[in-house]
Amino acid sequence: MWPFLTIVAVAATVVIHFWWRHKFLHQRRQMQAEMEELQRRQQQTTTAAKAQQQVLFNSMLEGLLLLDRNRRIYLANRAFKNLFGLKTELRGKTVMEALRVHELAALVERVESGGQVLDYELKLPELSERWLQVNAAAISNSAGEREGTILVFHDLTRLKQLERTREEFVANVSHELRTPLSLIKGYVETLLDGARDNPEVAERFLKIIERNASRLDLLIQDLLTISALESGRITLNLQPVPLRPLAEKILADLKTRTDAKDVKLVNDLPELTAMADANRLEQVLANLVDNAIKYGRAEGTVTVGGRKDDADKIEIFVQDDGPGIPSEALDRVFERFYRVDKARSREQGGTGLGLSIVKHIVQNHGGKVWVKSELGKGATFFFTLPPGEK
Ligand code: ADP
Repeated sequence: MWPFLTIVAVAATVVIHFWWRHKFLHQRRQMQAEMEELQRRQQQTTTAAKAQQQVLFNSMLEGLLLLDRNRRIYLANRAFKNLFGLKTELRGKTVMEALRVHELAALVERVESGGQVLDYELKLPELSERWLQVNAAAISNSAGEREGTILVFHDLTRLKQLERTREEFVANVSHELRTPLSLIKGYVETLLDGARDNPEVAERFLKIIERNASRLDLLIQDLLTISALESGRITLNLQPVPLRPLAEKILADLKTRTDAKDVKLVNDLPELTAMADANRLEQVLANLVDNAIKYGRAEGTVTVGGRKDDADKIEIFVQDDGPGIPSEALDRVFERFYRVDKARSREQGGTGLGLSIVKHIVQNHGGKVWVKSELGKGATFFFTLPPGEK
């Protein structure tokens, strides 16, 4: 009996042992699986948060650079890489290794010692001028220990260019106004000093004064027109304008100007109608024809012509057979106050604003303006307008 009971007891112990072991192992595996699942979820959350952070940083217009406590790059967003034209991985590099800009490396040091640097203007040492505004601050944790540095970069290049254009414009305007004004002043003084007693001299001086006063008047009118066009204050009164009669009127008005030079004016426009503001269009054509007469050759021909182009737009041209425009000046003649030959333009009474006004008016109509020329072979100015009829 005992041996039997012993065997049963041993068997039972073995079974219980294996049962417990199996249960224990099963539970351990279950716990392990749960742990792994938890870790996986945590990792997923971290990866998602990181990806979200990356998307956020990359959608910023400002360049962002984060440095760790060892002043090595921890993060650089897309805008930052674009600003500096970088394509490689920057993580782990110092500012100097990544960018080779001494001034920026020095700025990082200043932030380390001073805590922050605001509105710092940085000019990049490149061929094409680039300006950045940098705001930088040290990052500290709750215990007040330095964790790193954050730098935010804003592209100032366009703003700087606009500022320079404005300064140049003011300088140009002052110069343009001063020239006729000082002439007027000079001749008035000479007249007052006694020249008025000689009627012949007085008449000559008064004519010079009159010419320069008209020049001032013209300049101010052109400046006001440019300013109104640029600020969008001018609203166009668009209506179908038959082009041939308009050109006919302009050529007749300008005919008197050609007398001394004996220039032939030809209206070659077909019967076309454009959707335009008649007064503004007249200003465009008059400026172009006037230039063609002024800068064309004596006894030459000025032709106004046009066609409907492939995109159904009206293309108008004004052609002369004068000395033409050098290729390097072709794009620049539409700039305010740009003249190929300053002395010649002034002597002809030009303000240097005519073509700039032409460009603005044409662009306000949704058109384009351009010039083709070869030295010695004349110049042809083209512009497009929307058609006045379907
Ligand atoms: P301006 O008052 O000096 O005529 P514009 O803006 O009308 O000013 O023209 C700018 C410059 O473009 C002129 O000074 C001249 O040098 C050049 N230009 C314009 N039209 C012609 C042309 N038909 N032939 C040659 N040069 C021209």
